[in-house]
Amino acid sequence: MASTLEQQSGTPVTRQHVSQPVSSQRLHNEDLIHYHQALRDTDLFNNCLHGLSNTSFHHAEGTDTILYRLASDDMQKHVNMLDGLALFLIFRGRDKKDQSVVATGMIRAAGTVNIVYANNSSRPSSLEQRVYIYDLIEKFKDQDPVDDILKHIIPFCKEKMAQRCKNLAAKFNMNSTTLREDVSNFYGVRSDIAEHAEMETTLRDLNWIQKTTSLSKALDTFLRFAAKLTRLSTIEDIFNVLYLAYAFTTITPGIEKLVEPPIWRRMRKIGDYRKTCICVRDVVRTLGGSRATITIEQLFPPDEVQHEVHNSTLEALNTWSKVFPSNSPLHDFESQIKEHYPNAKEGQSGKMKILFSQHCELTVAKHLLQVKTTRSLLDPIEIGCSKASCFWCDLYLTELNRILPGGAITSATHGNLCDGWMMPQALPSYETVNRGVLDYIGRQVEIVFARGNDRRRKSDSLPLDRRALPQDDKMQKEKSERAIV
Ligand SMILES: [Zn+2]
Repeated sequence: MASTLEQQSGTPVTRQHVSQPVSSQRLHNEDLIHYHQALRDTDLFNNCLHGLSNTSFHHAEGTDTILYRLASDDMQKHVNMLDGLALFLIFRGRDKKDQSVVATGMIRAAGTVNIVYANNSSRPSSLEQRVYIYDLIEKFKDQDPVDDILKHIIPFCKEKMAQRCKNLAAKFNMNSTTLREDVSNFYGVRSDIAEHAEMETTLRDLNWIQKTTSLSKALDTFLRFAAKLTRLSTIEDIFNVLYLAYAFTTITPGIEKLVEPPIWRRMRKIGDYRKTCICVRDVVRTLGGSRATITIEQLFPPDEVQHEVHNSTLEALNTWSKVFPSNSPLHDFESQIKEHYPNAKEGQSGKMKILFSQHCELTVAKHLLQVKTTRSLLDPIEIGCSKASCFWCDLYLTELNRILPGGAITSATHGNLCDGWMMPQALPSYETVNRGVLDYIGRQVEIVFARGNDRRRKSDSLPLDRRALPQDDKMQKEKSERAIV
């Protein structure tokens, strides 16, 4: 039976066996063609993806994407606004993982703005959610007060909001039952440091905190309120935390120096709810306010598909050795995998079911790409995401950016190898993108085998990290420079 990926490409699978052991040198040339051909087989693809994610899940450091770093301030701001807009469209928490992440895009044409959004699920928004979105747009068009708009958003997004707040509090070992009342000044504010005193004065003068409240006390109170939030909290309680997060991350510079970057990123995400309200309201005003024509459309990825894969990392990876028999099957997890990948997980023998889904940023990217092809390819594709992209999505967009003049920009990647990642169907003329990703996955599996089977090649083989990513920074830079112009 033809597999999904075979149907997508329209090309039959030709399993060409590699007769010689693969050296790191050869990984980059003549053998590439075999990998994408072989990996069109869905079962092999799924097992390789599962095997790699269990071998080195935390694949690379979370970082801004290359194109984002090279983008102009205006473009970065626009992508940030789209990131923020995505936050307003998350109606579920982490328990519904496929619906708890959203990507957005914006198409401007002839005086109208069409906002598109997608999540990882093909489930349509409910009538109630659609009414909420419609009302939200009306509020932006009517230029309602920012805080009223935020209060309209809270009931629909509070599950995710509460989770983000709890995640921040957890960084300080706080939760709803452990508020650490015996500790104070979690942020280490010092009254003898002029910059800290200035932050306090600014927040007091602008009435973000009371005249009698110290900055350290305000931050402690903010954290404890954040720790206590649940989806059952009142709109007012959630509003107060979002409001303070906005003040601490936007009104006065300097607080980012008090905390580690991961804590700062969490705070900023909470502050972004109010910040995005201001930003979108401003954009809508420039579009004509109540006279603006704004439409919003949900995009649907292909249905999620449940696939069976080998639970065991060795068994999953060994599906590769059946196609490429020159790679002797791996048989000892400790010495052949764990020694080279310390964070690898072994997994039990037998099968497990994994839900594969197309990630939302790629659904939006493909839609915008289809729209762009009829207009200007030089326009960059700006994609907002409620969270940083996974490694595979970033890889996919990096491959796309090799051939897309304007480039497709997302703000960040968390660098994790997500299991259950569904490869999008290639658009006509963009088949090389899919091939590039499949070849990359094949190379990574080859590297695992090379390391596991031959220690002498250990220093010779490429590590499973971004250095193995087929990047050409010069080309990327040129493309982004074109995109920025
Ligand atoms: Zn992804």
